[in-house]
Amino acid sequence: MAELVQIERIRKRDFNSRILEMDAGKKKAILPPQLPLELLSKKLEESVTIELAHQIPDCTSCGVCCAFALIVPITYSESESVPAYVDILLDDADEEIVIDRVLPRAENGRCANLEGELGGPIGCRIYNDRPSLCHDFDAGSDRCHEYRRMYGIEGQLSEEEAKVFREKLLSRPHPMVIEDVSIVSSGHVERMSISAEGEAEQTFGELLTIWCFLNDETPIEIHTFEYGKEKWFEGDLLGLTMDEARKRIEEQAGW
Ligand code: SF4
Ligand code: SF4
Repeated sequence: MAELVQIERIRKRDFNSRILEMDAGKKKAILPPQLPLELLSKKLEESVTIELAHQIPDCTSCGVCCAFALIVPITYSESESVPAYVDILLDDADEEIVIDRVLPRAENGRCANLEGELGGPIGCRIYNDRPSLCHDFDAGSDRCHEYRRMYGIEGQLSEEEAKVFREKLLSRPHPMVIEDVSIVSSGHVERMSISAEGEAEQTFGELLTIWCFLNDETPIEIHTFEYGKEKWFEGDLLGLTMDEARKRIEEQAGW
């Protein structure tokens, strides 16, 4: 476990503008994807570029997925074993309300835990404690190979190959999953309590609502909770189906 943890706190709108700026800089330096990124799986067993899946690249001479992914969300428990993280705060709230937690980026936009040169000797400083998002990303998956082509680490597909792979991607089923999450303020609850001096006190608890956005952009309100009584981050439900998300909320909220 990390002994000293470096924590930055930033309002969501400032964080979003920082990411937009990094994204624009990154796009200037890399090639556009040949295949639709949103359809490419991170799992080796779901590969459609099957010939390429047989060539598992060596991550220690690559590192590009850690440079491409500008937002790596971490869970509350994962944040207990990383040396630094960024807390994202609800906009326009009087108190600091944490609605997401992510790994920090270096000034060049790469994950701050990435050590070395892209395409050269490179590694993850927190490899054994890396979050599930990193752990679940397979070297050799469709998305891995696409990132490598975008950064020029491996050659471009021929037009014919790209056409065949695109058709395969478009012809397979695309499950509805949560692509984006937004936690917003939705009011407050009033409570009466007795102070140490025996006087009645009125206190307020901030109510937050979790909105999920599916990959067809449908918005769904899934849960309202009192801040401080439950702990949710926007990254907690990403990539889940609505049924999986509801189950996770039921389990975590102890219903
Ligand atoms: S893009 Fe693929 S090969 Fe490169 S570091 Fe990521 S998983 Fe490893
Ligand atoms: S934590 Fe490690 S594996 Fe994850 S993005 Fe950062 S450098 Fe890559």
